[in-house]
Order: sequence, then structure tokens, then C-alpha cells
Amino acid sequence: MSVVDTLGRPVRDLRISVTDRCNFRCVYCMPKEVFGRDFRFLERRELLTFEEIARLARAFVRQGVQKIRLTGGEPLVRRNIERLVELLAAIEGVDLTLTTNGSLLREKARALRDAGLNRVTVSLDSLDDNVFRAMNDVDFPVTKVLAGIDAAAAAGLAPVKVNMVVKRGVNDHDVVAMARHFHGSGHILRLIEYMDVGHTNGWRMDDVVPSAEVVAAIDAELPLEPAEPNYPGEVAARWRYRDGGGEIGVISSVTQPFCGGCTRARLSAEGRLFTCLFAVRGHDLRAVVRGDAADEALDEAIATIWRGRSDRYSELRTAETAALPKVEMSYIGG
Ligand code: SAM
Repeated sequence: MSVVDTLGRPVRDLRISVTDRCNFRCVYCMPKEVFGRDFRFLERRELLTFEEIARLARAFVRQGVQKIRLTGGEPLVRRNIERLVELLAAIEGVDLTLTTNGSLLREKARALRDAGLNRVTVSLDSLDDNVFRAMNDVDFPVTKVLAGIDAAAAAGLAPVKVNMVVKRGVNDHDVVAMARHFHGSGHILRLIEYMDVGHTNGWRMDDVVPSAEVVAAIDAELPLEPAEPNYPGEVAARWRYRDGGGEIGVISSVTQPFCGGCTRARLSAEGRLFTCLFAVRGHDLRAVVRGDAADEALDEAIATIWRGRSDRYSELRTAETAALPKVEMSYIGG
């Protein structure tokens, strides 16, 4: 029996941020002006160790978690991440995945697969090299991310999901080119509405390209039909190419919020539990794991937090809520 929150939602997915550091300075969540030389990232001793993460993961699984996603910052910059994958893959009944910017994937795909990772999601916001280099702010080329995606598929981390966050006037012109590129490839392109996470990105409603508009643009070139969800409460709405060239997904977090079905818990790299992507503060679980707590006490701490959960930020979003204090995406991992 899994624990449920005040709205009857169980805890099914756990996202674990393994570092707040990243080798990109993406305009969406780590703009250089804020995350420059003077930014204070977490110290090593502040991060959960791999053993602490695995212990917490096991406790979450006892509460009902079935899927774990490693994220960051950039998870592949955490040293020996394969070792953590191995520890988590040993937990029975867990689907283990990872979200990455793809920059180190070509080198790491095989080791991650061998360690027991099931799949990866790669973020890629444009195929236009100039746009992409400007967006990641470290002049990183598209070709290396594409090579990472190929390496992941070749290693058996398939199907690879490719996440594109669409922002008006930045990369919306590239949506159809992305669809064409991944059509027939076996990879699944997912188009995500730009969200008002954190404060450093200066989000405005005008920046959001509604998924309906994205689907219409792709459908005009590569005809689509709706596909059934893989499971109830799936966050991405699926669309299938009518010519058999695979599928895409759209995630309409702004225009069609899905708080009612949200079963996600998020653990920061320093062990704070956030019950919503838009939460202001997290609950300190590191103090519990470092405080000699028995497993029962750890379970009870997690269950108590989850039972009290009532978050549904995206359903309540207004121009005013967008300005409220919120945790940064680079810290919580998306
Ligand atoms: N570094 C990894 C990566 O690039 O995938 C994992 C962390 S990153 C924060 C996870 C995802 O969040 C990326 O796909 C990124 O594009 C997305 N993201 C960042 N800011 C966002 C925003 N404001 N709205 C929607 N997605 C956002």
C-alpha cells in the first residue's frame, strides 16, 4: 500500500538531483549572469553520498515509488555516477532512468547501461548550431549531443526521449526541423512548454508556445493522430505519425496543468524533499539519514511529509503566482 497525499495522489516517481553543477549555462535555467564565477554551488560534504541516496531511494520505494530518474544540474558531471546507478538498479521493482544534456553521453552510455540504467532522456532545444551554442552559453555543438543520443541507443538505452523546451522567439522556428530529424529514428521527441520555474530565467506568459500550436505546426508537415496514453496519468500527451514514422509527446504544463495526477517527489542533491516543482522550500531528509535514524523512522518521516502534501501550483497559476519565490530548476532538476 502506498502513502497518499491530501488529494489522494500516491508517490510513484522520485526524481533525484545528484549535483547542482552543470557544464552548460543554459538560458532556461542557469543563465551565466546568475550562475557565474561568484555563484556558490553546494560543497561536496553538503551533497548526499551515494549510499545515502540509495538508502533514501529504498525508503521511497517502500512508500510506493516505482520509477526513479536521476537529474541535476547535469548528472553526468557527478564523479562515478555509474556506481550510484548500480546501487539503485539493485532495488527491486524500479524503473531507473536519467535526464542529461547529452554532452558526456557518448563516453558514458555503455557504462551506464552496464551499471543497470534502463533509459535516458536527452535535452536538446535546437538543431540549429548557432541557436544551440548560444542557448547553452558554452559554445557546445549540436553534433556532439546527437552523437550522445546515437551512443545511448546503440548501448540499448532505448527508446531515447529527446526533450525540447519551446520558447517563443528563441527556438520555436526549429520545431518542425526537430520533428523531421527524429521522425523514423526510433527516438521520441517531446516538446515541452516553457515553465515559470525559479526566477533567474525572467519567464513571461508571452514566452510560452502552447502545445496545441506546436502540434498543429508539425501536423501540417508530418500528419499526426492522437495516441492512447501508455498508462493513466502520463504527463506527455502522445501523438503518432500517420505514416508509421513513430511518435512525439507534448507536455503542456502551462496550458493544461496536470497537478491532479502528479505523483512526483523531488529530492535535491543535499537531501531536501520537494513535493512540487514550484515549491518554495524542501524538507530536510539529510538530517534524518545522517542522524542515525532507523529505517522505520525514515519511512515515517517521508510518509508524514507526503500525507500533508496539497501542492497544485500549476492549476492555480496566475500572473501573480509567477512572481512568488520558488526553487530554481537547476537545483531541483526538472
Ligand atoms: N542537465 C540535465 C538536462 O539538461 O537535461 C538535467 C537537468 S535540466 C534542469 C532538466 C530539463 O529541464 C532540461 O530539459 C531543461 O531544458 C528543462 N528546463 C529548464 N528550465 C525549464 C523551464 N523553465 N521550463 C521547462 N523546462 C525547463
